[in-house]
Amino acid sequence: MELRLNDKFGVEPTLGNLVWDWQETLAQHSDPGFAEKGQLTVTYLTEAHRAAAKQIAADMRECGFDSVEIDAVGNVVGRLDPAPPPSGGGLGWGRYLLTGSHYDTVRNGGKYDGRLGIFTPMACVRELARSGRRLPFGIEVVAFSEEEGQRYKATFLGSGALIGHFNPAWLDQKDAEGVTMREAMRNAGLPATIEAISALKRDPARYLGFVEVHIEQGPVLNELDIPLGIVTSINGGVRYQCEVNGMASHAGTTPMDRRRDAAVAVAELALYVEQRAARDGDSVGTIGMLQVPGGSINVVPGRCLFSLDLRAPRDPQRDALVADVLAKLAEICERRGLRHGVEETMRAAAAPSAPPWQQRWEQAVESLGVPLYRMPSGAGHDAMKLHEVMPQAMLFVRGQNSGISHNPLESTTSDDIQLAVLAFQHLLEQLAKEIR
Ligand SMILES: [Zn+2]
Repeated sequence: MELRLNDKFGVEPTLGNLVWDWQETLAQHSDPGFAEKGQLTVTYLTEAHRAAAKQIAADMRECGFDSVEIDAVGNVVGRLDPAPPPSGGGLGWGRYLLTGSHYDTVRNGGKYDGRLGIFTPMACVRELARSGRRLPFGIEVVAFSEEEGQRYKATFLGSGALIGHFNPAWLDQKDAEGVTMREAMRNAGLPATIEAISALKRDPARYLGFVEVHIEQGPVLNELDIPLGIVTSINGGVRYQCEVNGMASHAGTTPMDRRRDAAVAVAELALYVEQRAARDGDSVGTIGMLQVPGGSINVVPGRCLFSLDLRAPRDPQRDALVADVLAKLAEICERRGLRHGVEETMRAAAAPSAPPWQQRWEQAVESLGVPLYRMPSGAGHDAMKLHEVMPQAMLFVRGQNSGISHNPLESTTSDDIQLAVLAFQHLLEQLAKEIR
């Protein structure tokens, strides 16, 4: 039997409803080709993406943030400043809690991935502003412009910019239509200079830490019927774009033992990735994109392009997996007389939650009478980037429809969102007590 929040407390989830409405409004912006089909796709700096940023900025202003701006990489940054310090100081007074998540989406994705982590703290700031209250610390909510690596191979661009990880070569990278990132930025009215982007780097000393609320994107909380989950660690991941080159030749006249078939080599690798990742128990490996450019039904594939995505809860485990897979690729190509190339497009270290921050989430969840459930995150998140410079911890919100994500069926409920907002408010109050 499902216990609904309404039954439990006899109240409407007003803050959950508020966030729900923000999500719905934001989901109206979608890239051409998808919008017509009622699908949600928002990739970096498209018209829909820029409209989404404007929408978030407008919603933030309405919440009562002290400042709202769209920065040089398209992040929307809202700040609620701290209360003035008491006479005699106050330890740690005046720093900021950093929070947020991303507003870009995968192609034909869900409404909540990323966005829930922007709107949940926005609802908290709105409540503070409405009651004219300030805390001993400021709250900086960042809606990250790019996390999914869809239009450009620049995954975590938005959060990466805050820690000084922007690869200058990205500016010359082209999208599928041949538009460079520099052009896309200029088009969006952004400066598109390394100087402006480097200036976004935050001084960690000014921050207390980073917290991120995110929909779980998996089936665990749904199966357990628990609305919120405490994240213990984010799996480390590496991604590659790879290419194998053999010899395109006649499918009818080339005997099987004379072929240099690039696609078959990748098929052999795919089977190996499946077996090798499974051997670890909790590692995962995926070849999610595989194509034979210009291929024909009657031509032995001369070239094959593919992606590799390898993840594990600990870096050494992930690195061993990567080493084995790349060695296998080399061995397969050697044996089959093929050449291959590998380009690393993303590398993120595993990010264990900072214990004090994880404990704050645990207290918050317990205070709501929600059973504590701790779990690692199999998906990568913006928190992984911030992890490199400051303590971080994440809170998961249960997804509906067996927790499906990167899919239009991704969903949650106002009741669960309400609990996430209440947990966030509890974390803020707890922090205020600690600093006072
Ligand atoms: Zn996400």
